[in-house]
Amino acid sequence: MLMRMSTMLLKTLREDPAEAEVPSHRLLLRAGYVRRAAPGGYTWLPLGKLVLDNITRVVREEMFAAGAQEVSFPSLLPREPYETSGRWTDYGDDIFTLRDRRDAEYLLAPTHEEMFALLVQDLTSSYRDFPMILFQVQTKFRDEARPRAGVLRGREFLMKDAYSFDLTDEGLADAYGVMRVAYQKIFARLGLEHTIVSAVSGAMGGSASEEFLAMADVGEDTFVGCTKCDYAANTEAVTTPPPAAPTGTPGPMTVHDTPDTPTIASLVNLANERALDGRTDWTAADTLKNVVVTVRQPGHEPELLAIGLPGDREVDLKRLNANLHPAAAELFDDFASRPDLVKGYIGPQGIKIRYLADPRVVTGTGWLTGANEPGKHATSVVAGRDFTPDGTVEAADVRPGDPCPACGDGELTMRRGIEIGHIFQLGRRFTDAFKLDVLGADGKPVRPTMGSYGVGVSRAVAAIAEQHHDERGLIWPAEIAPADVHVVAAGKDGQVEAALSLAEELVAAGLRVLVDDRKGVSAGVKFTDAELIGIPRTVVVGRRLGDGYAELRDRRTGDRDEVLLSDMVATVTGV
Ligand code: ATP
Ligand code: MG
Repeated sequence: MLMRMSTMLLKTLREDPAEAEVPSHRLLLRAGYVRRAAPGGYTWLPLGKLVLDNITRVVREEMFAAGAQEVSFPSLLPREPYETSGRWTDYGDDIFTLRDRRDAEYLLAPTHEEMFALLVQDLTSSYRDFPMILFQVQTKFRDEARPRAGVLRGREFLMKDAYSFDLTDEGLADAYGVMRVAYQKIFARLGLEHTIVSAVSGAMGGSASEEFLAMADVGEDTFVGCTKCDYAANTEAVTTPPPAAPTGTPGPMTVHDTPDTPTIASLVNLANERALDGRTDWTAADTLKNVVVTVRQPGHEPELLAIGLPGDREVDLKRLNANLHPAAAELFDDFASRPDLVKGYIGPQGIKIRYLADPRVVTGTGWLTGANEPGKHATSVVAGRDFTPDGTVEAADVRPGDPCPACGDGELTMRRGIEIGHIFQLGRRFTDAFKLDVLGADGKPVRPTMGSYGVGVSRAVAAIAEQHHDERGLIWPAEIAPADVHVVAAGKDGQVEAALSLAEELVAAGLRVLVDDRKGVSAGVKFTDAELIGIPRTVVVGRRLGDGYAELRDRRTGDRDEVLLSDMVATVTGV
Protein backbone atom coordinates (compact mmCIF):
# COMPACT_ATOMS: atom_id res chain seq x y z
CA MET A 1 0.00 0.00 0.00
CA LEU A 2 1.37 3.38 -1.04
CA MET A 3 -0.06 6.61 0.37
CA ARG A 4 1.09 9.91 -1.04
CA MET A 5 0.88 12.90 1.22
CA SER A 6 0.66 15.20 -1.80
CA THR A 7 -2.86 13.91 -2.47
CA MET A 8 -3.94 12.65 0.91
CA LEU A 9 -6.81 14.09 2.96
CA LEU A 10 -4.54 15.20 5.75
CA LYS A 11 -3.96 18.48 7.49
CA THR A 12 -1.70 18.54 10.51
CA LEU A 13 -2.16 21.30 13.06
CA ARG A 14 0.67 23.38 14.51
CA GLU A 15 -1.31 24.49 17.53
CA ASP A 16 -3.00 22.44 20.22
CA PRO A 17 -6.74 22.47 19.57
CA ALA A 18 -8.67 24.15 22.38
CA GLU A 19 -11.19 21.30 22.61
CA ALA A 20 -8.55 18.75 23.67
CA GLU A 21 -7.50 18.31 27.29
CA VAL A 22 -5.73 14.94 27.22
CA PRO A 23 -2.58 14.08 25.23
CA SER A 24 -4.14 11.36 23.05
CA HIS A 25 -7.00 13.59 21.95
CA ARG A 26 -4.67 16.51 21.27
CA LEU A 27 -2.27 14.42 19.21
CA LEU A 28 -4.92 12.49 17.26
CA LEU A 29 -6.44 15.82 16.23
CA ARG A 30 -3.13 17.52 15.51
CA ALA A 31 -1.69 14.63 13.50
CA GLY A 32 -4.84 14.37 11.39
CA TYR A 33 -6.28 11.06 12.57
CA VAL A 34 -9.74 12.22 13.66
CA ARG A 35 -12.03 15.25 13.43
CA ARG A 36 -14.95 16.07 15.65
CA ALA A 37 -18.23 15.70 13.77
CA ALA A 38 -20.85 15.75 16.52
CA PRO A 39 -21.00 15.88 20.33
CA GLY A 40 -19.30 12.59 21.22
CA GLY A 41 -18.98 11.66 17.54
CA TYR A 42 -15.74 11.59 15.54
CA THR A 43 -14.84 11.18 11.88
CA TRP A 44 -11.94 8.86 11.15
CA LEU A 45 -9.62 10.44 8.61
CA PRO A 46 -7.53 8.20 6.31
CA LEU A 47 -4.67 7.72 8.83
CA GLY A 48 -7.06 7.15 11.73
CA LYS A 49 -9.15 4.68 9.79
CA LEU A 50 -6.05 2.61 9.10
CA VAL A 51 -5.21 2.48 12.81
CA LEU A 52 -8.79 1.62 13.72
CA ASP A 53 -8.85 -1.15 11.12
CA ASN A 54 -5.54 -2.52 12.37
CA ILE A 55 -6.95 -2.82 15.86
CA THR A 56 -10.09 -4.43 14.49
CA ARG A 57 -7.95 -6.92 12.56
CA VAL A 58 -5.96 -7.90 15.66
CA VAL A 59 -9.15 -8.31 17.68
CA ARG A 60 -10.81 -10.35 14.93
CA GLU A 61 -7.76 -12.61 14.47
CA GLU A 62 -7.63 -13.40 18.17
CA MET A 63 -11.39 -14.01 18.31
CA PHE A 64 -11.14 -16.48 15.42
CA ALA A 65 -8.11 -18.11 17.06
CA ALA A 66 -10.22 -18.56 20.20
CA GLY A 67 -12.89 -20.33 18.17
CA ALA A 68 -15.43 -17.51 18.03
CA GLN A 69 -17.66 -16.92 15.00
CA GLU A 70 -18.37 -13.47 13.62
CA VAL A 71 -21.84 -12.10 12.96
CA SER A 72 -23.11 -8.56 12.61
CA PHE A 73 -26.34 -7.13 13.96
CA PRO A 74 -28.07 -3.90 13.10
CA SER A 75 -27.66 -1.02 15.53
CA LEU A 76 -31.23 0.14 14.99
CA LEU A 77 -33.35 -2.29 16.96
CA PRO A 78 -36.96 -2.58 18.07
CA ARG A 79 -37.99 -1.97 21.65
CA GLU A 80 -39.45 -5.41 22.40
CA PRO A 81 -36.34 -7.49 23.18
CA TYR A 82 -35.00 -4.76 25.44
CA GLU A 83 -38.41 -4.45 27.06
CA THR A 84 -38.39 -8.20 27.74
CA SER A 85 -34.95 -8.05 29.36
CA GLY A 86 -35.90 -4.97 31.39
CA ARG A 87 -33.09 -2.91 29.92
CA TRP A 88 -35.33 -0.51 27.99
CA THR A 89 -35.93 1.00 31.45
CA ASP A 90 -32.76 -0.08 33.29
CA TYR A 91 -30.47 1.67 30.85
CA GLY A 92 -32.11 4.92 31.92
CA ASP A 93 -30.89 8.10 30.23
CA ASP A 94 -27.91 6.34 28.63
CA ILE A 95 -30.00 4.87 25.87
CA PHE A 96 -30.86 6.61 22.57
CA THR A 97 -34.46 5.87 21.62
CA LEU A 98 -36.47 6.95 18.59
CA ARG A 99 -39.74 6.35 16.73
CA ASP A 100 -40.26 5.35 13.13
CA ARG A 101 -42.90 6.77 10.78
CA ARG A 102 -45.45 4.25 12.08
CA ASP A 103 -44.74 5.42 15.60
CA ALA A 104 -43.05 2.15 16.56
CA GLU A 105 -40.30 2.53 19.17
CA TYR A 106 -36.66 1.77 18.46
CA LEU A 107 -33.31 2.15 20.11
CA LEU A 108 -29.74 2.52 18.96
CA ALA A 109 -28.15 -0.44 20.67
CA PRO A 110 -25.81 0.32 23.59
CA THR A 111 -24.87 -3.41 23.73
CA HIS A 112 -26.40 -6.55 22.22
CA GLU A 113 -26.96 -9.32 24.79
CA GLU A 114 -30.64 -9.51 23.90
CA MET A 115 -30.08 -9.95 20.18
CA PHE A 116 -27.45 -12.66 20.61
CA ALA A 117 -29.69 -14.60 22.98
CA LEU A 118 -32.57 -14.33 20.49
CA LEU A 119 -30.35 -15.41 17.59
CA VAL A 120 -29.23 -18.48 19.48
CA GLN A 121 -32.83 -19.23 20.41
CA ASP A 122 -33.81 -18.87 16.77
CA LEU A 123 -31.13 -21.15 15.33
CA THR A 124 -30.39 -23.83 17.90
CA SER A 125 -32.48 -26.58 19.37
CA SER A 126 -30.22 -29.20 20.86
CA TYR A 127 -27.31 -29.61 23.25
CA ARG A 128 -25.28 -30.63 20.20
CA ASP A 129 -25.20 -26.99 19.08
CA PHE A 130 -23.19 -25.98 22.18
CA PRO A 131 -20.82 -24.60 23.35
CA MET A 132 -20.62 -21.58 21.08
CA ILE A 133 -18.95 -18.15 21.11
CA LEU A 134 -20.25 -15.43 18.80
CA PHE A 135 -18.89 -11.96 18.27
CA GLN A 136 -19.28 -8.81 16.23
CA VAL A 137 -17.35 -5.58 15.75
CA GLN A 138 -19.98 -2.95 15.62
CA THR A 139 -21.03 0.61 16.35
CA LYS A 140 -22.66 1.19 19.73
CA PHE A 141 -24.58 4.19 20.92
CA ARG A 142 -24.76 5.50 24.47
CA ASP A 143 -25.99 8.89 25.53
CA GLU A 144 -23.07 9.29 27.92
CA ALA A 145 -23.52 11.91 30.62
CA ARG A 146 -20.02 13.19 29.93
CA PRO A 147 -18.56 12.33 26.52
CA ARG A 148 -14.89 13.02 26.93
CA ALA A 149 -11.48 13.19 25.36
CA GLY A 150 -12.49 12.47 21.79
CA VAL A 151 -12.75 8.79 20.96
CA LEU A 152 -11.91 7.84 24.54
CA ARG A 153 -15.54 8.24 25.57
CA GLY A 154 -17.84 8.80 22.64
CA ARG A 155 -21.58 8.62 22.31
CA GLU A 156 -21.09 6.58 19.14
CA PHE A 157 -18.16 4.18 19.30
CA LEU A 158 -16.83 0.92 17.98
CA MET A 159 -16.95 -2.12 20.23
CA LYS A 160 -16.12 -5.76 19.76
CA ASP A 161 -18.70 -7.66 21.74
CA ALA A 162 -18.61 -11.41 22.14
CA TYR A 163 -21.02 -13.75 23.90
CA SER A 164 -20.48 -17.34 24.97
CA PHE A 165 -23.26 -19.89 25.28
CA ASP A 166 -22.74 -22.99 27.41
CA LEU A 167 -24.95 -25.59 28.98
CA THR A 168 -23.08 -25.82 32.27
CA ASP A 169 -21.43 -23.46 34.71
CA GLU A 170 -18.12 -25.27 34.13
CA GLY A 171 -18.51 -24.66 30.41
CA LEU A 172 -19.04 -20.96 31.08
CA ALA A 173 -15.96 -20.84 33.28
CA ASP A 174 -13.94 -22.45 30.46
CA ALA A 175 -15.24 -20.00 27.84
CA TYR A 176 -14.44 -17.14 30.21
CA GLY A 177 -10.91 -18.47 30.59
CA VAL A 178 -10.49 -18.75 26.82
CA MET A 179 -11.67 -15.15 26.32
CA ARG A 180 -9.44 -13.93 29.13
CA VAL A 181 -6.39 -15.42 27.40
CA ALA A 182 -7.53 -14.03 24.02
CA TYR A 183 -7.80 -10.57 25.60
CA GLN A 184 -4.30 -10.83 27.03
CA LYS A 185 -3.02 -11.65 23.54
CA ILE A 186 -4.98 -8.82 21.96
CA PHE A 187 -3.73 -6.18 24.37
CA ALA A 188 -0.16 -7.46 24.14
CA ARG A 189 -0.30 -7.12 20.35
CA LEU A 190 -1.79 -3.65 20.69
CA GLY A 191 1.14 -2.66 22.88
CA LEU A 192 -1.15 -1.77 25.77
CA GLU A 193 0.33 -2.08 29.22
CA HIS A 194 -2.62 -3.12 31.34
CA THR A 195 -3.81 -4.69 34.56
CA ILE A 196 -6.68 -7.15 34.95
CA VAL A 197 -8.84 -6.08 37.87
CA SER A 198 -11.95 -7.40 39.57
CA ALA A 199 -15.00 -5.37 38.63
CA VAL A 200 -18.42 -4.91 40.15
CA SER A 201 -20.72 -7.59 38.82
CA GLY A 202 -23.84 -6.93 40.86
CA ALA A 203 -25.69 -4.84 38.32
CA MET A 204 -26.21 -7.33 35.53
CA GLY A 205 -26.42 -10.34 37.81
CA GLY A 206 -23.81 -13.00 37.16
CA SER A 207 -20.59 -13.73 38.95
CA ALA A 208 -17.00 -13.32 37.78
CA SER A 209 -16.36 -9.96 36.19
CA GLU A 210 -12.98 -8.48 35.30
CA GLU A 211 -11.87 -5.35 33.56
CA PHE A 212 -8.73 -4.77 31.52
CA LEU A 213 -7.42 -1.35 32.46
CA ALA A 214 -4.72 0.33 30.39
CA MET A 215 -2.39 2.27 32.66
CA ALA A 216 -2.92 5.98 32.04
CA ASP A 217 -3.10 9.00 34.31
CA VAL A 218 -5.99 10.39 32.28
CA GLY A 219 -8.05 7.22 32.81
CA GLU A 220 -11.40 7.55 34.52
CA ASP A 221 -11.04 4.32 36.47
CA THR A 222 -9.05 4.07 39.66
CA PHE A 223 -7.83 0.66 40.66
CA VAL A 224 -6.01 -0.78 43.61
CA GLY A 225 -3.19 -3.26 43.99
CA CYS A 226 -1.74 -4.80 47.14
CA THR A 227 1.79 -4.43 48.46
CA LYS A 228 1.84 -8.10 49.57
CA CYS A 229 -0.39 -10.19 47.26
CA ASP A 230 -1.72 -10.10 43.68
CA TYR A 231 -5.10 -8.61 44.56
CA ALA A 232 -6.17 -6.04 41.95
CA ALA A 233 -9.59 -4.45 41.75
CA ASN A 234 -11.38 -1.44 40.41
CA THR A 235 -11.97 0.84 43.43
CA GLU A 236 -15.66 0.41 42.65
CA ALA A 237 -15.30 -3.28 43.43
CA VAL A 238 -13.07 -3.08 46.51
CA THR A 239 -14.61 -4.80 49.49
CA THR A 240 -13.89 -3.43 52.93
CA PRO A 241 -12.76 -6.04 55.44
CA PRO A 242 -15.10 -5.63 58.45
CA PRO A 243 -13.28 -5.03 61.74
CA ALA A 244 -13.52 -7.62 64.49
CA ALA A 245 -16.67 -7.20 66.58
CA PRO A 246 -15.84 -5.11 69.66
CA THR A 247 -15.62 -6.78 73.03
CA GLY A 248 -16.86 -5.26 76.27
CA THR A 249 -20.20 -3.65 77.00
CA PRO A 250 -20.70 -0.13 75.69
CA GLY A 251 -22.26 2.45 77.98
CA PRO A 252 -25.76 3.77 77.41
CA MET A 253 -26.50 6.13 74.56
CA THR A 254 -26.12 9.70 75.88
CA VAL A 255 -27.31 12.91 74.20
CA HIS A 256 -25.04 15.98 74.51
CA ASP A 257 -25.50 19.64 73.65
CA THR A 258 -23.07 20.30 70.81
CA PRO A 259 -23.95 23.73 69.44
CA ASP A 260 -22.47 24.86 66.11
CA THR A 261 -21.00 21.50 65.17
CA PRO A 262 -22.46 20.79 61.72
CA THR A 263 -19.18 19.38 60.40
CA ILE A 264 -17.14 16.40 61.57
CA ALA A 265 -14.11 18.62 62.30
CA SER A 266 -16.12 21.00 64.48
CA LEU A 267 -17.74 18.06 66.28
CA VAL A 268 -14.42 16.36 67.04
CA ASN A 269 -13.00 19.66 68.37
CA LEU A 270 -15.92 20.17 70.69
CA ALA A 271 -15.97 16.54 71.84
CA ASN A 272 -12.32 16.83 72.91
CA GLU A 273 -12.74 20.29 74.47
CA ARG A 274 -15.67 19.13 76.54
CA ALA A 275 -14.20 15.66 77.12
CA LEU A 276 -17.44 13.94 76.13
CA ASP A 277 -17.78 10.59 77.91
CA GLY A 278 -14.57 11.50 79.76
CA ARG A 279 -12.47 11.18 76.60
CA THR A 280 -10.11 13.65 75.01
CA ASP A 281 -8.86 11.38 72.25
CA TRP A 282 -11.82 11.67 69.88
CA THR A 283 -10.96 11.46 66.19
CA ALA A 284 -13.10 11.67 63.06
CA ALA A 285 -12.97 7.86 62.81
CA ASP A 286 -14.98 7.66 66.07
CA THR A 287 -17.85 9.56 64.55
CA LEU A 288 -20.60 8.21 62.34
CA LYS A 289 -21.34 10.48 59.39
CA ASN A 290 -24.78 10.13 57.80
CA VAL A 291 -25.02 11.29 54.21
CA VAL A 292 -28.39 11.59 52.49
CA VAL A 293 -28.67 10.85 48.77
CA THR A 294 -31.54 10.74 46.30
CA VAL A 295 -31.74 7.41 44.52
CA ARG A 296 -33.48 7.06 41.18
CA GLN A 297 -34.36 3.50 40.27
CA PRO A 298 -35.18 3.57 36.52
CA GLY A 299 -38.95 3.65 36.11
CA HIS A 300 -39.59 4.52 39.78
CA GLU A 301 -40.08 7.65 41.83
CA PRO A 302 -36.88 8.96 43.44
CA GLU A 303 -36.30 7.76 46.98
CA LEU A 304 -34.13 9.06 49.83
CA LEU A 305 -31.35 6.92 51.23
CA ALA A 306 -28.96 7.62 54.10
CA ILE A 307 -25.45 6.20 54.10
CA GLY A 308 -23.69 5.77 57.43
CA LEU A 309 -19.90 5.75 57.36
CA PRO A 310 -17.00 6.60 59.67
CA GLY A 311 -16.54 10.37 59.79
CA ASP A 312 -12.97 10.23 58.46
CA ARG A 313 -14.31 8.90 55.13
CA GLU A 314 -16.17 10.58 52.30
CA VAL A 315 -18.92 9.07 50.19
CA ASP A 316 -17.43 8.15 46.80
CA LEU A 317 -20.43 8.61 44.49
CA LYS A 318 -18.82 6.56 41.72
CA ARG A 319 -18.42 3.60 44.06
CA LEU A 320 -21.91 4.07 45.46
CA ASN A 321 -23.41 4.26 41.99
CA ALA A 322 -21.53 1.21 40.76
CA ASN A 323 -22.96 -0.73 43.68
CA LEU A 324 -26.51 0.60 43.29
CA HIS A 325 -26.64 0.30 39.49
CA PRO A 326 -29.00 0.49 37.59
CA ALA A 327 -30.23 2.94 40.23
CA ALA A 328 -28.36 6.26 40.28
CA ALA A 329 -27.66 8.33 43.39
CA GLU A 330 -26.88 12.00 43.85
CA LEU A 331 -26.36 14.08 46.98
CA PHE A 332 -29.60 15.34 48.55
CA ASP A 333 -29.64 18.95 49.63
CA ASP A 334 -33.27 19.99 49.97
CA PHE A 335 -33.27 19.66 53.76
CA ALA A 336 -35.92 22.39 54.08
CA SER A 337 -38.44 19.90 52.67
CA ARG A 338 -37.55 17.26 55.27
CA PRO A 339 -37.61 18.65 58.84
CA ASP A 340 -37.03 15.09 60.16
CA LEU A 341 -33.57 15.17 58.57
CA VAL A 342 -31.66 17.75 60.59
CA LYS A 343 -28.72 18.73 58.42
CA GLY A 344 -25.43 18.29 60.28
CA TYR A 345 -27.11 16.47 63.17
CA ILE A 346 -28.52 13.31 61.57
CA GLY A 347 -28.26 10.06 63.52
CA PRO A 348 -29.31 6.55 62.47
CA GLN A 349 -31.37 5.99 65.65
CA GLY A 350 -35.01 6.23 64.60
CA ILE A 351 -34.22 7.51 61.10
CA LYS A 352 -37.25 7.37 58.82
CA ILE A 353 -35.55 6.72 55.48
CA ARG A 354 -33.72 3.65 54.23
CA TYR A 355 -30.34 3.40 55.93
CA LEU A 356 -27.33 1.53 54.61
CA ALA A 357 -24.11 1.37 56.59
CA ASP A 358 -20.46 1.04 55.67
CA PRO A 359 -19.06 -2.45 56.40
CA ARG A 360 -17.00 -0.95 59.24
CA VAL A 361 -20.23 -0.30 61.13
CA VAL A 362 -20.48 -3.80 62.57
CA THR A 363 -22.84 -4.89 65.30
CA GLY A 364 -21.61 -3.76 68.70
CA THR A 365 -19.64 -0.75 67.48
CA GLY A 366 -20.51 2.48 69.31
CA TRP A 367 -20.42 5.86 67.60
CA LEU A 368 -20.52 9.58 68.20
CA THR A 369 -23.25 10.72 65.84
CA GLY A 370 -26.14 13.13 65.37
CA ALA A 371 -29.08 13.13 67.80
CA ASN A 372 -31.58 14.28 65.13
CA GLU A 373 -32.03 17.65 66.84
CA PRO A 374 -30.28 20.89 65.95
CA GLY A 375 -27.12 21.36 68.06
CA LYS A 376 -27.21 17.88 69.62
CA HIS A 377 -25.11 14.75 69.18
CA ALA A 378 -25.12 11.43 71.00
CA THR A 379 -22.31 9.18 72.19
CA SER A 380 -22.34 5.38 72.47
CA VAL A 381 -24.87 4.99 69.68
CA VAL A 382 -24.42 1.28 69.19
CA ALA A 383 -25.06 -0.65 65.98
CA GLY A 384 -27.46 -3.52 66.62
CA ARG A 385 -28.66 -1.94 69.88
CA ASP A 386 -29.64 1.67 69.20
CA PHE A 387 -30.06 1.30 65.45
CA THR A 388 -30.16 -1.47 62.86
CA PRO A 389 -29.11 -0.62 59.31
CA ASP A 390 -31.24 -1.94 56.44
CA GLY A 391 -28.06 -3.38 54.96
CA THR A 392 -24.46 -2.53 54.15
CA VAL A 393 -23.09 -0.66 51.17
CA GLU A 394 -19.61 -0.05 49.77
CA ALA A 395 -19.74 3.72 49.33
CA ALA A 396 -16.81 5.06 51.35
CA ASP A 397 -13.74 6.28 49.51
CA VAL A 398 -10.86 3.85 49.18
CA ARG A 399 -7.44 5.21 50.11
CA PRO A 400 -3.84 4.20 49.58
CA GLY A 401 -2.72 2.37 52.70
CA ASP A 402 -6.12 0.77 53.38
CA PRO A 403 -5.83 -2.90 54.37
CA CYS A 404 -5.99 -5.45 51.54
CA PRO A 405 -9.26 -7.40 51.64
CA ALA A 406 -7.64 -10.45 50.04
CA CYS A 407 -4.57 -11.18 52.21
CA GLY A 408 -5.38 -8.87 55.13
CA ASP A 409 -1.67 -8.29 55.42
CA GLY A 410 -0.69 -5.84 52.69
CA GLU A 411 -1.76 -2.29 52.01
CA LEU A 412 -3.62 -0.98 48.99
CA THR A 413 -1.87 1.13 46.38
CA MET A 414 -3.83 3.11 43.80
CA ARG A 415 -3.40 3.91 40.11
CA ARG A 416 -5.53 5.18 37.25
CA GLY A 417 -6.45 3.39 34.07
CA ILE A 418 -8.64 3.33 30.97
CA GLU A 419 -11.13 0.47 30.69
CA ILE A 420 -10.27 -1.16 27.37
CA GLY A 421 -11.99 -4.48 27.91
CA HIS A 422 -14.49 -6.17 30.16
CA ILE A 423 -15.19 -9.88 30.54
CA PHE A 424 -18.14 -11.07 32.49
CA GLN A 425 -19.84 -14.33 33.46
CA LEU A 426 -23.39 -13.18 32.92
CA GLY A 427 -25.17 -16.38 33.78
CA ARG A 428 -28.79 -16.96 32.80
CA ARG A 429 -30.19 -13.47 33.13
CA PHE A 430 -30.90 -13.14 29.38
CA THR A 431 -31.65 -16.78 28.61
CA ASP A 432 -34.17 -16.63 31.47
CA ALA A 433 -35.69 -13.45 30.08
CA PHE A 434 -36.26 -15.09 26.69
CA LYS A 435 -36.93 -18.59 28.09
CA LEU A 436 -34.17 -19.92 25.87
CA ASP A 437 -34.17 -23.71 26.32
CA VAL A 438 -32.64 -26.43 24.20
CA LEU A 439 -33.02 -30.18 24.34
CA GLY A 440 -30.43 -31.76 26.64
CA ALA A 441 -28.64 -35.09 26.14
CA ASP A 442 -31.15 -36.71 28.52
CA GLY A 443 -34.11 -35.42 26.50
CA LYS A 444 -34.94 -32.75 29.07
CA PRO A 445 -34.77 -29.03 28.35
CA VAL A 446 -31.64 -27.16 29.47
CA ARG A 447 -31.16 -23.42 29.72
CA PRO A 448 -27.83 -22.14 28.37
CA THR A 449 -25.70 -19.79 30.43
CA MET A 450 -23.95 -16.78 28.91
CA GLY A 451 -20.74 -14.83 29.17
CA SER A 452 -20.24 -11.40 27.67
CA TYR A 453 -16.92 -9.96 26.57
CA GLY A 454 -16.30 -6.43 25.26
CA VAL A 455 -13.33 -4.59 23.80
CA GLY A 456 -13.47 -0.85 23.22
CA VAL A 457 -11.99 -0.82 19.71
CA SER A 458 -12.23 2.93 19.05
CA ARG A 459 -11.30 3.69 22.66
CA ALA A 460 -8.18 1.52 22.19
CA VAL A 461 -6.90 4.00 19.57
CA ALA A 462 -6.88 6.68 22.25
CA ALA A 463 -5.51 4.34 24.93
CA ILE A 464 -2.60 3.33 22.68
CA ALA A 465 -1.94 6.98 21.81
CA GLU A 466 -2.02 7.79 25.51
CA GLN A 467 0.69 5.20 26.24
CA HIS A 468 2.75 5.72 23.09
CA HIS A 469 3.67 9.33 22.51
CA ASP A 470 6.24 11.96 23.43
CA GLU A 471 6.17 15.74 23.34
CA ARG A 472 6.70 15.72 19.57
CA GLY A 473 3.93 13.35 18.63
CA LEU A 474 2.60 9.81 18.38
CA ILE A 475 4.78 6.68 18.34
CA TRP A 476 2.65 3.78 17.13
CA PRO A 477 3.50 0.17 17.93
CA ALA A 478 4.47 -1.44 14.60
CA GLU A 479 1.41 -3.66 14.25
CA ILE A 480 -1.01 -0.79 14.77
CA ALA A 481 0.76 1.98 12.84
CA PRO A 482 -1.00 3.31 9.73
CA ALA A 483 2.14 2.43 7.73
CA ASP A 484 5.41 0.56 8.22
CA VAL A 485 7.63 3.24 6.75
CA HIS A 486 7.34 6.96 6.20
CA VAL A 487 9.53 8.08 3.29
CA VAL A 488 10.27 11.79 3.37
CA ALA A 489 11.53 13.61 0.32
CA ALA A 490 13.47 16.42 1.94
CA GLY A 491 12.73 18.62 -1.02
CA LYS A 492 15.31 19.57 -3.55
CA ASP A 493 16.43 18.35 -6.94
CA GLY A 494 15.32 14.86 -7.81
CA GLN A 495 14.56 13.91 -4.23
CA VAL A 496 10.80 13.59 -4.68
CA GLU A 497 11.22 11.25 -7.62
CA ALA A 498 13.85 9.21 -5.80
CA ALA A 499 11.61 9.03 -2.71
CA LEU A 500 8.70 7.83 -4.81
CA SER A 501 10.71 5.13 -6.50
CA LEU A 502 12.11 3.97 -3.15
CA ALA A 503 8.56 3.96 -1.77
CA GLU A 504 7.48 1.76 -4.65
CA GLU A 505 10.31 -0.66 -4.00
CA LEU A 506 9.32 -0.87 -0.34
CA VAL A 507 5.69 -1.51 -1.33
CA ALA A 508 6.84 -4.23 -3.73
CA ALA A 509 8.62 -5.82 -0.75
CA GLY A 510 5.28 -6.02 1.05
CA LEU A 511 5.48 -2.89 3.20
CA ARG A 512 2.82 -0.26 3.80
CA VAL A 513 4.38 3.07 2.91
CA LEU A 514 3.47 6.70 3.48
CA VAL A 515 5.54 8.98 1.29
CA ASP A 516 5.86 12.70 1.85
CA ASP A 517 6.10 13.78 -1.78
CA ARG A 518 4.71 17.26 -1.18
CA LYS A 519 6.39 19.97 -3.19
CA GLY A 520 6.84 23.45 -1.77
CA VAL A 521 6.84 22.21 1.81
CA SER A 522 10.06 22.70 3.78
CA ALA A 523 12.09 19.78 5.03
CA GLY A 524 11.63 21.08 8.59
CA VAL A 525 7.85 20.97 8.31
CA LYS A 526 8.01 17.48 6.83
CA PHE A 527 10.20 16.22 9.69
CA THR A 528 7.90 17.78 12.26
CA ASP A 529 4.90 16.16 10.60
CA ALA A 530 6.64 12.79 10.46
CA GLU A 531 7.29 12.92 14.19
CA LEU A 532 3.73 14.01 14.87
CA ILE A 533 2.23 11.22 12.74
CA GLY A 534 4.39 8.65 14.49
CA ILE A 535 5.10 5.89 11.97
CA PRO A 536 7.79 3.63 13.48
CA ARG A 537 10.44 4.26 10.83
CA THR A 538 11.20 7.20 8.60
CA VAL A 539 13.50 7.21 5.58
CA VAL A 540 14.76 10.65 4.67
CA VAL A 541 15.77 11.06 1.06
CA GLY A 542 17.83 14.23 1.22
CA ARG A 543 21.28 15.73 1.02
CA ARG A 544 23.18 12.51 0.48
CA LEU A 545 21.04 11.24 -2.36
CA GLY A 546 23.87 12.17 -4.75
CA ASP A 547 26.18 9.67 -2.94
CA GLY A 548 23.44 7.03 -3.06
CA TYR A 549 22.50 7.32 0.65
CA ALA A 550 19.33 7.99 2.62
CA GLU A 551 18.81 8.29 6.37
CA LEU A 552 16.81 5.71 8.30
CA ARG A 553 15.28 7.09 11.51
CA ASP A 554 13.65 5.14 14.31
CA ARG A 555 10.78 7.12 15.81
CA ARG A 556 10.97 5.27 19.13
CA THR A 557 14.68 5.41 19.88
CA GLY A 558 15.53 8.46 17.80
CA ASP A 559 18.39 6.44 16.21
CA ARG A 560 19.58 7.64 12.79
CA ASP A 561 21.59 5.60 10.30
CA GLU A 562 22.94 6.40 6.87
CA VAL A 563 21.94 3.48 4.66
CA LEU A 564 22.81 2.87 1.01
CA LEU A 565 19.65 3.34 -1.04
CA SER A 566 20.37 0.05 -2.74
CA ASP A 567 20.35 -1.65 0.71
CA MET A 568 17.32 0.18 2.05
CA VAL A 569 14.64 -2.43 1.29
CA ALA A 570 16.76 -5.19 2.80
CA THR A 571 17.56 -3.07 5.87
CA VAL A 572 13.96 -2.06 6.48
CA THR A 573 12.51 -5.52 5.92
CA GLY A 574 15.31 -7.05 7.96
CA VAL A 575 16.00 -9.60 5.24
P1 ATP B 1 -17.25 2.76 31.09
O1 ATP B 1 -17.21 2.29 32.52
O2 ATP B 1 -15.93 3.30 30.61
O3 ATP B 1 -18.41 3.66 30.78
P2 ATP B 1 -18.66 0.38 30.47
O4 ATP B 1 -18.30 -0.45 31.63
O5 ATP B 1 -19.97 1.06 30.42
O6 ATP B 1 -17.50 1.47 30.20
P3 ATP B 1 -18.96 -1.95 28.81
O7 ATP B 1 -20.42 -1.97 28.76
O8 ATP B 1 -18.23 -2.91 29.68
O9 ATP B 1 -18.47 -0.45 29.12
O10 ATP B 1 -18.43 -2.00 27.29
C1 ATP B 1 -17.31 -2.76 26.85
C2 ATP B 1 -16.17 -1.86 26.43
O11 ATP B 1 -16.59 -0.83 25.52
C3 ATP B 1 -15.56 -1.09 27.57
O12 ATP B 1 -14.64 -1.89 28.27
C4 ATP B 1 -14.91 0.10 26.88
O13 ATP B 1 -13.61 -0.25 26.44
C5 ATP B 1 -15.80 0.33 25.68
N1 ATP B 1 -16.66 1.51 25.88
C6 ATP B 1 -17.71 1.62 26.72
N2 ATP B 1 -18.27 2.83 26.65
C7 ATP B 1 -17.56 3.52 25.72
C8 ATP B 1 -17.66 4.84 25.18
N3 ATP B 1 -18.60 5.68 25.58
N4 ATP B 1 -16.76 5.22 24.24
C9 ATP B 1 -15.81 4.37 23.81
N5 ATP B 1 -15.67 3.12 24.29
C10 ATP B 1 -16.53 2.69 25.23
MG1 MG C 1 -17.46 -2.28 31.72
